Amino acid sequence: MGVKVGVLALQGDVAEHILAFREALADRPGSTVTAVRHVEDLPGLDALAMPGGESTTISRLIGKNGLYEPLAGFEGGVFATCAGMVLLADRVDDPRVRTLSLIPMHVARNAFGRQVDSRETFLNVAGLTEPFRAVFIRAPAATDVGSGVEVLARIPEGIVAVRHGRHMAFAFHPELGGDLRLHRMFLENLRV
Ligand code: GLN
Repeated sequence: MGVKVGVLALQGDVAEHILAFREALADRPGSTVTAVRHVEDLPGLDALAMPGGESTTISRLIGKNGLYEPLAGFEGGVFATCAGMVLLADRVDDPRVRTLSLIPMHVARNAFGRQVDSRETFLNVAGLTEPFRAVFIRAPAATDVGSGVEVLARIPEGIVAVRHGRHMAFAFHPELGGDLRLHRMFLENLRV
């Protein structure tokens, strides 16, 4: 059976998420990957990707497009990267971001320091047998997580990969670099 994935397309690296999920779903006939900009784009989706970008901007556009309540109540799985991880938290160190509170965790927006633009690291992620080449770009990190949140990867700067029920959030960018193991883990976890 196909999987219906939406990609929140308000700002950020939307195209990369669409391509990565299309590739991850190439062997699942009937699957679709579509852009989400308005409330009417959400019904019927099994999953939603929330891209990296600028969480303050994405948060403002979520409000402007009337998407706050529909996203906060989304019942499918969410695959969030970077700014998306900030948006999924229930607490953040920047009052300009109105988070969706889908994962109980506190996130620091620029956990690596503002001077650190980007960095690559081979990361051990729980559930993967080989390390994952993680690209961090002005990345956030979770500083603490609530009950029921599984920490999948942690580095000195903080927690950089978590799973909470059907949702997964990453401080780095699994949609870049062609390694789709985390997409597959997420899709398996959906059990659609
Ligand atoms: N630090 C950015 C923010 O909080 C996220 C950066 C990114 O998504 N690459 O919005």
